[in-house]
Amino acid sequence: MAKKRLFGTFGVRRTANDVLTPEFASRLAASYGSIVQGTVAIGGDTRTSTPMLKHAITAGLLSSGCDVVDLGILPTPAIQYAVRNYYEGGIIVTASHNPPKFNGLKFVDEFGIGTPDDMEIAVEEMYFDSEPKRVSWDKIGKVYHNETIIDEYIKETLKRVDVEAIRSRRLKVVVDCGSGAGSYTAPYLLKALSCEVTTLNCQADGFFPGRDPEPIEPNLQDLIATVKDLGADIGLAHDGDADRTICIDEKGNFVLGDKTFALVEKQMLKENNGGIIVTTVATSQAIYDVAEEFGGEVIATAVGDLLVARKLKDTDGLFGGEENGGLIFPDFVYGRDAAMTVAKLLEILAKEDRPFSELVAELPVYYQEKLKIECPDDEKEEVMSKIAEEIKTTTDFELDTTDGVKILKDDGWVIIRPSGTEPIFRCFAESDSMDKAVEMANWGIGLIKKYKK
Ligand code: MG
Repeated sequence: MAKKRLFGTFGVRRTANDVLTPEFASRLAASYGSIVQGTVAIGGDTRTSTPMLKHAITAGLLSSGCDVVDLGILPTPAIQYAVRNYYEGGIIVTASHNPPKFNGLKFVDEFGIGTPDDMEIAVEEMYFDSEPKRVSWDKIGKVYHNETIIDEYIKETLKRVDVEAIRSRRLKVVVDCGSGAGSYTAPYLLKALSCEVTTLNCQADGFFPGRDPEPIEPNLQDLIATVKDLGADIGLAHDGDADRTICIDEKGNFVLGDKTFALVEKQMLKENNGGIIVTTVATSQAIYDVAEEFGGEVIATAVGDLLVARKLKDTDGLFGGEENGGLIFPDFVYGRDAAMTVAKLLEILAKEDRPFSELVAELPVYYQEKLKIECPDDEKEEVMSKIAEEIKTTTDFELDTTDGVKILKDDGWVIIRPSGTEPIFRCFAESDSMDKAVEMANWGIGLIKKYKK
C-alpha cells in the first residue's frame, strides 16, 4: 500500500492557519466529498480556528456535490454517534488534546469510525495527483443545521446505565472540561444524574485559559485540589474534544487510564457474562487478567483508537479501549466516548457503594516505563526486523509484530514502536515491579541502539 502523505493515526493535525489554511481544508474536504457523495455531518471543538475551518470544509463538500449538516460545537463522539445513525460521512474539526494553536480534521465513514487507510490514500491521491470532483452549478450541495444532537447524545447515554441507581446516590462530582467541547455535555449529563456538580473550566474558550487541553496530571492540579477541598466522590477531566475521561479518586489521586479501563471492563464482563474486549498492543496486562477472571477474550490491534473501533465492529465485540482513558462502547459509538465513560463509572460507584480508590486498589497492579530514542525514519524498518531476528534466533521469548516489535518475557513485556509522525522509536515496558519495568525498557533501548547506524 502507498505511504500516507497527510493522514496520521486519525485524520490530519497541523498548526491552524499556517499549514491548516482554509484553502488546504477546503480542497481536502472536496477530495473526501468526491468519494463519499452523500450527506456529510460536520462539527468541532471550541478552538479559535474551528469556525474558519468549518466554513472551509463546508465549501469544499458543497462543491463536490455533498449536502452538509452542521451539528455545531460538540464532542467528537456525539458527531460519531450522529453519523452512524443519520449520515453518510462526517468531518470533525478538532486537535483533541493538542495545544490551542493546533487544529485538525478527523474524517469518518458511514459508521462514524475513522476512515480506513485505503480511503485516506484515495483522498490524498485526489488531493495531490488529480482534481476533486467539482459539480455543475445546479448540483451544488445544500447546508442544513441540526442542533438536536447534543440533547439526543446525552439522552442516549442515560439509556445505557441504571439512572435511578446513580440518582439515588447523589454523588458529589467535580468536572473539569478544560474549556473544550465537553463544556456543552458533561455538566448537563451529571445534572441529569442528580449529582452534586462543581464545574471547573466549563466555559467554552479556544484559548484554553484554565489549563492545557491534555488531561495529564500536571494539568489537573486545580481539579485535584478541588476534589480534596470539597470531599468529592470523584473528579473527572476531559480532553479538548471530550472523547477521553480521566479520573481523580476521592483522596485526590490521579487514576491512570488503564485503571479506569480495567474497572469498566470488569463491570461490562460481569454484566454481560463475558465478551470480546479489544485493545491495542501497548495496553496493560491488567486488561488480560481481568478478562481471564471474568470470561472475556482480548483481541489486540495496532495502536490507534479507530483500529480498536473497527475491530469491535468486525468481531461484534463488547467493549474496548486504550491505556490513555479512551474507552469504546460499540453498541453506542464506534469511537472513544467520554460521556458514556462517565455514566458507566458513576454507575459502578453507585452500585458498589464504596470509595473509588478502593475499587481501583482491587485491580491488578503493574508498573510501566515509557522511553523514547531518536532514529531516522528510513532506518526504522531495518532496525525492527533486525531486533525481531535477534529475538527469534537467540531467545525463546514470544514475539508479536502487530505494531512494531513486542517481546513477551516471563515477567513482563517490552514494545518497540516507530512513531508515525516523528523520527523516534517509543519503547514501553511493563512488569510487576518498577525496577524490572525500567530495566526492561532500557534493554529495549539497547536493542535499538545496537542496530541503528
Ligand atoms: Mg480527544
